[in-house]
Amino acid sequence: MDKQTFDFATRAVHAGLIPDKATGARALPIYESAAYVFDNSDDAAARFALRKYGEIYSRIVNPTVAALEERVASLEGGLGAVATASGLSAQFITFIALASQGDEVLASSELYGGSITQLDITLRRLGIDTKFIDSDDPQDYAAAITERTRFIFVEAVANPSGHIADIEGLAAVAHAAGIPLVVDSTVATPYLLRPIEHGADIVVHSATKFLSGSGTVLGGVVVDSGTFHWGQERFPEFFKPVAAYNNLTWSGNFNEYSFLTRLRAEQLRDVGPALSAHSAFLIAQGIETLPLRVQRQVENTREIAEWLEQHPQVESVNWAGLETHAQHDRALKYFPNANSGSVFSFTIKGGRAAGKIFIDSLNLLSHVANIGDVKSLAIHPASTTHAQLSAEQLREAGIEEGTIRLSIGIESAKDLIADIAQALETSTQGDAPHSVEQR
Ligand SMILES: *Cc1c(COP(=O)(O)O)cnc(C)c1O
Repeated sequence: MDKQTFDFATRAVHAGLIPDKATGARALPIYESAAYVFDNSDDAAARFALRKYGEIYSRIVNPTVAALEERVASLEGGLGAVATASGLSAQFITFIALASQGDEVLASSELYGGSITQLDITLRRLGIDTKFIDSDDPQDYAAAITERTRFIFVEAVANPSGHIADIEGLAAVAHAAGIPLVVDSTVATPYLLRPIEHGADIVVHSATKFLSGSGTVLGGVVVDSGTFHWGQERFPEFFKPVAAYNNLTWSGNFNEYSFLTRLRAEQLRDVGPALSAHSAFLIAQGIETLPLRVQRQVENTREIAEWLEQHPQVESVNWAGLETHAQHDRALKYFPNANSGSVFSFTIKGGRAAGKIFIDSLNLLSHVANIGDVKSLAIHPASTTHAQLSAEQLREAGIEEGTIRLSIGIESAKDLIADIAQALETSTQGDAPHSVEQR
């Protein structure tokens, strides 16, 4: 399917999906097979040597997963994609493809809690040093780049703060230094924003969230634009002979496919976070309704954010779609009608105590550690998703004691507002009717 010809909503349903040749099945077949029969020994040898594309073993390629990869790449406007078992494994294999021991990474301090610990603890143990940048200004990133810096990593819309990255400004800074910009676009979704159109080189997703959409599955995707020029000095791995594959070189043999081929044939192969065929099926199916779901979610979000902004118990609402928000101009630039997604935070008056009572008083919104579900969700980040962060890291991530993160679903906005209203009311009275002890 030619991705230039069809609109987004059509590609969400059709990209990567052709009726099964063997059976005519219209839905995506779930190929639950660990391995694949080779035509003959020459065919097997050619596939192993990467001289011929073909299935070998499902840790590396699986036809159901490949259909999902093609679909997400099409929606993001990328050259191709590699799907993984989770969002964090998508990031991990990307990060270790780009950086090695002794290298540096620049990352926004406003990230998903698990991404902060992945960079700050696990990558640091591997000798990769992340500098977290507590600033919105691309020039502060430019000032922190050294000759060891290998990439810049930001979230297009930060979870949970809701802040929007200046992708164009950051891409310019990264490219001037010869490094790629990697964008986690989980919260933005390709329906609302396609970072590659604004200069990003690599886009990662937690497919657990909006892509699958119903909180049923874990998955991740890495999409490559295919346009970044890998330089010999910073990225020697792309130019050195690869002994495991008959001394080919990634850049010499695969040109614009060099990053994707290497990511699959080295990092996915060696680390092993393969996505299961069944999970790929659920995510691909979920994407068919992505445009409908996300449209409804941002409409609900606008109604709820505007309502919250007027509420006397609410200190601040962090949704850039609001005209009063400091980043509203950025929301207008990057998002249709400034609708910057359906995950945002607000800060309740009364700090941690009021926040806990609010959460315990919700009936319709679910108290879970997830986002991007058709069901509306709420959580108190300071005591859960971001509990492993220091007080300073919390502040830098845009989280206060009374901050509540909401992920707005597709229910009726009226019902959601009624539930939030009664929980806010209870939080002012200092006691939770549904606190854990009383349940
Ligand atoms: C959930 C999330 C992740 C991690 O994804 P998993 O699928 O849970 O591994 C990464 N980034 C963001 C923005 C997320 O919301």
